[in-house]
Amino acid sequence: MIVLNLKCENCQNEFEGWFSSSKSCDEQIKKGFVECTRCASSKIQRGLSRPNVSVKKGSAESGEKVIKELKSKIKEINRFIEKNCDYVGDQFSYEARRIHYDKIKKKAIYGTASKDEIKELNDEGIEVASIPWVKEEN
Ligand SMILES: [Zn+2]
Repeated sequence: MIVLNLKCENCQNEFEGWFSSSKSCDEQIKKGFVECTRCASSKIQRGLSRPNVSVKKGSAESGEKVIKELKSKIKEINRFIEKNCDYVGDQFSYEARRIHYDKIKKKAIYGTASKDEIKELNDEGIEVASIPWVKEEN
């Protein structure tokens, strides 16, 4: 699952949506399944896959709370991935291609890849999702 920033072309409302991949997001927008949370228009633009959370001055407390909750949600996703996917480290693009072309195993994998590697994989039709990762702290 990835979080994508979405923007309504009609009323300029910005909101977020959860999708299995950016490809599935694009498909759902194309089919008109994604609606603006404010005006219900289905003219939606997709933004970047890693939303930045900014904290407004004067609302530090609620901002901190949002970030704390966000981090705990991301950790939940991270734990889910660790449990259900094989870690392949920096061999990610190699392993992703092996699965795609040789169809050797079905299990999902996770690991690290550069922006260029992810772009190459996407160009080859290999579905890759970028997921924010929260380091365990204190
Ligand atoms: Zn709207």
